[in-house]
Amino acid sequence: MDRQILDVLNTGIVILDNKYQVVLWNHWMEMNSGKNREEIEGSLLFKHYPQLNTLFFTRSVKSVLNFNNYVYLSQKLHTYLFPFPTRGIYARDFEFMQQSCSLIPLTGEDGEKLIVITVQNVTETVFLEQSLKEQTRLDGLTGIFNRRYLDKRLDEEYTRFKRSGRVFSLMMLDIDHFKQVNDNYGHPFGDLVLKELAALCNDIVRGSDIVARFGGEEFSVVLLDTEAEGAMIFAERLRKKVEELSFRNNEGLSLSITISLGVTTVTKDIESSAHLIEEADKALYSSKESGRNCVTLYDDKKHKGKPKKSSVMGR
Ligand code: GH3
Ligand code: MG
Ligand code: MG
Repeated sequence: MDRQILDVLNTGIVILDNKYQVVLWNHWMEMNSGKNREEIEGSLLFKHYPQLNTLFFTRSVKSVLNFNNYVYLSQKLHTYLFPFPTRGIYARDFEFMQQSCSLIPLTGEDGEKLIVITVQNVTETVFLEQSLKEQTRLDGLTGIFNRRYLDKRLDEEYTRFKRSGRVFSLMMLDIDHFKQVNDNYGHPFGDLVLKELAALCNDIVRGSDIVARFGGEEFSVVLLDTEAEGAMIFAERLRKKVEELSFRNNEGLSLSITISLGVTTVTKDIESSAHLIEEADKALYSSKESGRNCVTLYDDKKHKGKPKKSSVMGR
């Protein structure tokens, strides 16, 4: 193909001979690698990119040369071939440009076997895919995980527990008399309280724990590798912190709230992740019944057969 045409393409084009010498390095490759063609054409590719000298790469090249195969190296499997640093908004998420590449056989003018590598920059697509995925996991108001993600992770942790005995606890909390907050201070202040409470929960858990908005003014925390005793200590610490906290809005209004909590821990009697939620919910309902602003640990003898909080509160 005419060099001028190769230089206007919005794709990287590299031509190699059967000894990995660079025959052609188009303008796109110059721009993204920072290496001029004079510097790279006629020299060994591995001199410039030693990290490409892997069994995987050389086998792929050989299969193209020997069998006239076409090899596609998808970003989904390989992330990139040439380590080109990313720029602008992508630099925070990706150290290197995400690439999908093809290796294509070519016959030179003198009949020699060559190989064409095409390099496509797919960083923007991967970035958009990832942010879309992120958005479907998060709650729009508070920015913590949503109910859908909580259900998925609870299922996964429950399966892991069944397989390997890795214990975890579930804590549910519900703001006390939250309706009055909205009624007395307005819905926007209510929203602010929800956001700040979500941030507080996120701040005090361990990095591996899962904080999610269960719905309305109810939050869940999955405490990994945590037995009932540890979960109760955590719940009590959170209850106290919330009680001591003062929420303030832009107009200088301030208010305090309390929360009621229910805690349960996975055991071999638990039949599903939904069963675990039911237990935490019943314990939470007990806290409400006991006068609110307290923590209850699920107790089989006390709570079995008791109505769930949701059926009583009409949630
Ligand atoms: P209890 O102590 O029994 O839990 O009383 P409560 O008032 O908190 O309970 P109830 O379930 O009656 O009220 C929940 C309130 O939460 C009512 C609803 O308007 C409010 N709420 C739910 N989601 C949001 C939200 O996204 N923003 C705001 N501001 N309020 C919300
Ligand atoms: Mg509620
Ligand atoms: Mg409430």
